[in-house]
Amino acid sequence: MAVKFLDLRAQTANLRAEIEPAIARVLANAAFIGGAEVEQFEREFGAFVGANALGVGNGTDALEIAVQALNLPKDSEVLLPANTFAASAEAVARNQLRLVFVDCDSTYTMSIADLERKITPQTSAIMAVHLYGQSADMHAICALAKRHNLRIIEDCAQAHGASFASQKVGTFGEIACFSFYPGKNLGAYGDAGAIVSNDTKLLAACRQIAHHGGLQKYEHDRIGRNSRLDSLQAAVLRVKLPHLNAWNAQRDIIAREYMRLLADTEGLVLPTLHAQAQCVWHLFVVRILDGKRDSVRQKLAEAGIETGLHYPKALPSCAAYQNVPFVRTSATPNACAWEAEILSLPMGEHLDKTQAREVADALRSALVP
Ligand SMILES: *Cc1c(COP(=O)(O)O)cnc(C)c1O
Repeated sequence: MAVKFLDLRAQTANLRAEIEPAIARVLANAAFIGGAEVEQFEREFGAFVGANALGVGNGTDALEIAVQALNLPKDSEVLLPANTFAASAEAVARNQLRLVFVDCDSTYTMSIADLERKITPQTSAIMAVHLYGQSADMHAICALAKRHNLRIIEDCAQAHGASFASQKVGTFGEIACFSFYPGKNLGAYGDAGAIVSNDTKLLAACRQIAHHGGLQKYEHDRIGRNSRLDSLQAAVLRVKLPHLNAWNAQRDIIAREYMRLLADTEGLVLPTLHAQAQCVWHLFVVRILDGKRDSVRQKLAEAGIETGLHYPKALPSCAAYQNVPFVRTSATPNACAWEAEILSLPMGEHLDKTQAREVADALRSALVP
């Protein structure tokens, strides 16, 4: 039996009875930008995270606008992980700031030791990315930020509902960003994103930037841009949000099953969890040792099991970030070595324990020569 990496078709079919009236409501009101759906989603998502929320066009815009609103000194340095999606780095680079890549540890989030080593007097901020659904060590990051007077931006695009020491991600830093790209734990039917913050002034600045530089129509107090959450996407997200905890719980069941079935498998490294992190398993990433990753992936594909690579290249290995003046060269040995070993197994609320076993069995057989 085939195992899908992600199954949005099944999720959409299951939600059809709730989604269709929600979409019909938007059509009936003909409020396609702004209006009640967006305002209510902002309230509901804000309550879910425990902060105030602003809907924007996508997760990349959310990050870029959030960094802009922080008004960091020009050419100052922002520390961010080497292994993340490109959007985290784009948000920094497009704000005329310098990037310094930090290595990851076995949790695949920022190594605190490496982070500490790379702080200089030029550092102005840390972008913490909660990769694969797991929170970075926010206690350590907040302590370092405090000691060195640094701002914190959280990239929560892969971690809707995750927490650290029982505190939700998105509430540790001054400002945090979410993506609702369709494949995320909470996904829209197109592009969508949100910025959350408990600093009302900062969030108002973001709203201003995202709405052509003004909070009132035709008042342009600064040079802004257009990045709004569509009402149709807000309506879809409002239907999905109440299901998120149950979906995350199912992801946790699958992850525990993988952990149990694949424990002590030779040639395979399972994900490591920080003792205080409550992970929402956006991805379940293992490492395949001895140069066998690609052949194992091929064998799984032949068995009908879809896998992914997140990400095939760590950002310091990508052309855009090599030998450019806005990146301070810094070693990130784990992220660069592991790009050849990582393999993302099927993960999502579409899976049951039988399928998890099927994946684990196929993976074990693929590992034996
Ligand atoms: C998906 C993602 C983003 C960007 O979100 P978009 O909505 O696709 O623009 C940013 N950071 C991380 C870590 C992501 O996974």
